Amino acid sequence: MKDRPHVAPFDPERLRAEFPALGIEVHGKPLVYLDNAATTQKPRAVLDRIVRYYEQENANVHRGVHALSQIATEAYEGARARIASFLGASGPDEIVFTRGTTESINLVAHGFARSVLGPGDEIVITHLEHHSNIVPWQLAAEATGAVVRVVPIDEDGTVDFDAYLDLLGSRTRIVSVSHVSNSLGTVNPVERFVRAAHEHGIPVLVDGAQAVAHAPVDVRALDVDYYCLSGHKMFGPTGIGALYGKAEALDRLPPWQGGGDMIASVSFAGTTYAAPPLRFEAGTPHIEGAVGLAAAIDFLGAVDRDAAAAHEAELVRYAHERLASIPGIRFIGTSPHKTAVVSFLVGSLHPYDVGTLVDRFGVAVRTGHHCTEPVMARYGIPGTVRASFALYNTKADVDALVEAVDRARRLLS
Ligand code: PLP
Repeated sequence: MKDRPHVAPFDPERLRAEFPALGIEVHGKPLVYLDNAATTQKPRAVLDRIVRYYEQENANVHRGVHALSQIATEAYEGARARIASFLGASGPDEIVFTRGTTESINLVAHGFARSVLGPGDEIVITHLEHHSNIVPWQLAAEATGAVVRVVPIDEDGTVDFDAYLDLLGSRTRIVSVSHVSNSLGTVNPVERFVRAAHEHGIPVLVDGAQAVAHAPVDVRALDVDYYCLSGHKMFGPTGIGALYGKAEALDRLPPWQGGGDMIASVSFAGTTYAAPPLRFEAGTPHIEGAVGLAAAIDFLGAVDRDAAAAHEAELVRYAHERLASIPGIRFIGTSPHKTAVVSFLVGSLHPYDVGTLVDRFGVAVRTGHHCTEPVMARYGIPGTVRASFALYNTKADVDALVEAVDRARRLLS
């Protein structure tokens, strides 16, 4: 990472202390927060940055000559540059601010529907996608007569790569695949997906919502055409995210929302549009979100990411080992390549019942289909209990989870 500050030796206990929300109690018990795949907690540096923005820098961006507007514009555009360097993009113009991964995917799907897709064209996704990487493509298909083709997954939650290769063809217009599955934890071999698609000249979008908080991502090394992320899943604020696109990949997309800032010139005879990324940023943007996200990137920049990834891998291993001792436990998602997510069922107990009781013991997990209904249908289950980890979790959190799940099991059986 280029503008990397001092990287301290990795210490989850020290990191925890930077997150005020990790010190609260729920139901009279210290919070054990294991719902990081839904959203992460925020470090003090992000919270302070947002307050400083409103106290000292707040003005609208791009349109003002006054000093404060220039300060706000510098903060906003500086955040764009920070995301570009965080992802290894060629430059800030390859970063579009969005509300998050969902909006990023919708932007691309909408652009493809308007400029690329036609009847009989194919969009390739996989069976383990989040709804936000399914429904936008279904909408695009509905609007154009294109077809969504789905790569199956194996019993352990690994995408069937041979089936993927078989699906790529002369009608495929885009591949859209997640980097990491939010309900199974499977890490997809994105480089291999991209290489195979590019051999056919097919662009690839990668949904990085669950990846960026867990390992460094280099979009140029991966050679992806589009990469999507959500700030709130990487210690930043909600309501802000980004779409990375190679310059030519963004160029090919038409505008998708009209308004201020996205134009070159407006007249009643006809309007011309700004170049990317502003072409896709109509209206006053989420300035506070952008500067907060930049602060989250700075926070991550001061972390030894390799050590953090090793720590999280050990937590996942330890959680599997300890949970396995609970009678009736069944893990969903056991790919050898997985990260940060442990999904499971306990005997015939409904995941909602387990999750509700576990919460009473202070442990926050998520239950249900996790916006991946096709995954649940694949396994014939209504949902799972999902514990998801971040770099500030510890083995003590896993111990608390195991104890809470076992107590819930005994109470419900
Ligand atoms: N993709 C994956 C894999 C996710 O896990 C999520 C959220 O859980 C999303 C996309 C959507 O992210 P957001 O709601 O931040 O747009």
